[in-house]
Amino acid sequence: MQKEGLKIVISGPSGAGKGTIVKELIKNETFRLSISATTRMPRQGEEEGVHYFFKTKKAFSKMIEEEQLLEYAMFCDNYYGTPKCFIEESVKNGKDVILEIEVQGAAQIKEVYPEAIFIFVIPPTLRDLENRLIGRNTETDEVIKKRLQRAKEELYLYKEYDYVIINDNIERAADYIEKIVCAEKLRSNKFKQHIEAILNYQGGF
Ligand code: ADP
Ligand code: 5GP
Repeated sequence: MQKEGLKIVISGPSGAGKGTIVKELIKNETFRLSISATTRMPRQGEEEGVHYFFKTKKAFSKMIEEEQLLEYAMFCDNYYGTPKCFIEESVKNGKDVILEIEVQGAAQIKEVYPEAIFIFVIPPTLRDLENRLIGRNTETDEVIKKRLQRAKEELYLYKEYDYVIINDNIERAADYIEKIVCAEKLRSNKFKQHIEAILNYQGGF
């Protein structure tokens, strides 16, 4: 029987390196990334349906009205939300689904999927965060300032997460997440069926 995959929520301040780590993780075929909808404008190189489903405010509101979203939140003046359909189907197929979402959305996911794994990615220092946001060169100074302010608020929420990863090295951070997922799959509560199958053995003689 196919074992269900895990739901893995990854949050953390903008610029901490979530996207970069996720890109590393999904090189491994077992992971699937949930593609969010957003009202944010695409950055250079971002593709529709690959990085996000880019929506107008009106289209996003319609998705909310039609209950197409599992969770949604406003982050620095834009809406972001997780479409419902993809997650259930992927975990049923044994894939580990990654939701790279901010803290308000993560709290909503905890209500729907308390069994999900919650991982908080942080930068080594606030100066690193600032340098990364500036270095990424995707936002205006004004937006960077807003995101840094928001980062300080978000950092207080680390206790809501099961694990914290300091992203001082991309490969190591991704490796830690793979190890967390591996350990989570070995939890005793995941072995009921397996143990029962062993005990059902009647013997050959
Ligand atoms: P987030 O998705 O959390 O907003 P990104 O993945 O876009 O962050 O990373 C922000 C910037 O920091 C990118 O330019 C990325 O290349 C860089 N970065 C990510 N991880 C590290 C790291 N461990 N060391 C140095 N730079 C990093
Ligand atoms: P960015 O604009 O940098 O791509 O994303 C901004 C923030 O929105 C990040 O913290 C990212 O994790 C979060 N985000 C992306 N998709 C979703 C989503 O579907 N729901 C929620 N709540 N947050 C999201």
